[in-house]
Amino acid sequence: TEDLSARDPELFGSIADELTRQRDEIELIASENIVSRAVMQAQGSVMTNKYAEGYPGRRYYGGCQYVDVAEELAIERICQLFGCKFANVQPHSGAQANQAVLMALVQPGDTILGMDLASGGHLTHGARVSQSGKWFNAVQYGVTRDTNLIDYDQVAALAAEHKPKLIIAGGSAIPRQIDFKRFREIADSVGAILHVDMAHFAGLVAGGQHPNPLEWCHVATSTTHKTLRGPRGGIILTNDEDIAKKINSAVFPGLQGGPLMHVIAAKAVAFGEALRPEFRAYAAQVVKNAQTLAATLIEGGLDIVTGGTDTHVMLVDLRPKKVTGVAAEKALGRAHITCNKNGIPFDPEKPMVTSGIRLGTPAGTTRGFGEAEFVEIGKLICEVVDGLAAHGEEANGAVEEAVKRKVKALCNRFPIYEGL
Ligand code: PLP
Repeated sequence: TEDLSARDPELFGSIADELTRQRDEIELIASENIVSRAVMQAQGSVMTNKYAEGYPGRRYYGGCQYVDVAEELAIERICQLFGCKFANVQPHSGAQANQAVLMALVQPGDTILGMDLASGGHLTHGARVSQSGKWFNAVQYGVTRDTNLIDYDQVAALAAEHKPKLIIAGGSAIPRQIDFKRFREIADSVGAILHVDMAHFAGLVAGGQHPNPLEWCHVATSTTHKTLRGPRGGIILTNDEDIAKKINSAVFPGLQGGPLMHVIAAKAVAFGEALRPEFRAYAAQVVKNAQTLAATLIEGGLDIVTGGTDTHVMLVDLRPKKVTGVAAEKALGRAHITCNKNGIPFDPEKPMVTSGIRLGTPAGTTRGFGEAEFVEIGKLICEVVDGLAAHGEEANGAVEEAVKRKVKALCNRFPIYEGL
């Protein structure tokens, strides 16, 4: 019965500090969001106590009648959101969802074709350091030098040459809509399975602001905590019954033991929220805000990779200001604007330095920022970056302090987690 603050003040302090940080900082990390109290309530519920290996109605443990309800709600709702027939809502994370697809549909040593990390792909799409790159013969495609868009001709050529069993589309830093139809044609031309990893843009699909990859792919994976605004976790979706069976076996007992039933309950809550009309308005605002932010940064003299965005995310090329990604991330952080350094395509700098930052609007939009606020945020970013360019990293403190005060004022106008 003892409250956490009394039982473990040290740990409680870290949570309280994190809450203050989230309240007082502008969150521009494109893969983050701000979940509802209802989502947190489900995740903090007694369902954390329950073992439920297996699937609803066929568990290896007794007492699963109520967690079954939660998992069935999550499955029904996600299938409704994406117009698909089968869903596995048990993957503990996006990486594990992708691992399950590989385990289900290809064999170690088989060839897979995914986007390379430096061009915007994800580690789990065949990067050398990841299991996907170590256990499979991973071939990687990228973007063209002139447009920085996915090089579909290269995808087709690599597919024809290497005959991959599976092709992965999607990534972590792709600002433009992906041509799923073209990917499917390429996959069909070599008899490959098409896997779309929609982790980043799933919420935009759910909110009707982005084409639905399930119309084209054999299997889709996603995280649930980015634009979809749920708890941290993964999902796998398909319309193919045979693939669905293989996926279920790969997730459990292939890779995981007991599912995180409290997280699955929270996923059900978030999927229910995403089915509401307000979520459509949210997703539309996320895209409008991103386009507004990109335009403001361009006006301020920064380059945006591909000239803008169709989604929630953009890559800022800092080279016009002769500032590195790492320096900008740190300076913006001191001004309470949180983002991450990110390599731009063909980046001349090392991965720990980079020439860019990645910015996204999902979290800011959740707290209520609209286009007017994102114009203000864009100008604040330019102030900090211009300050860095003019004064250098050591002497930019006054600029960063002034911006931090404006950030605080803006955050105060759009409070989050009041009364928590
Ligand atoms: N796939 C993509 C495209 C991602 O951006 C990410 C997250 O970074 C993942 C998969 C992995 O998700 P998680 O961090 O939940 O393992």
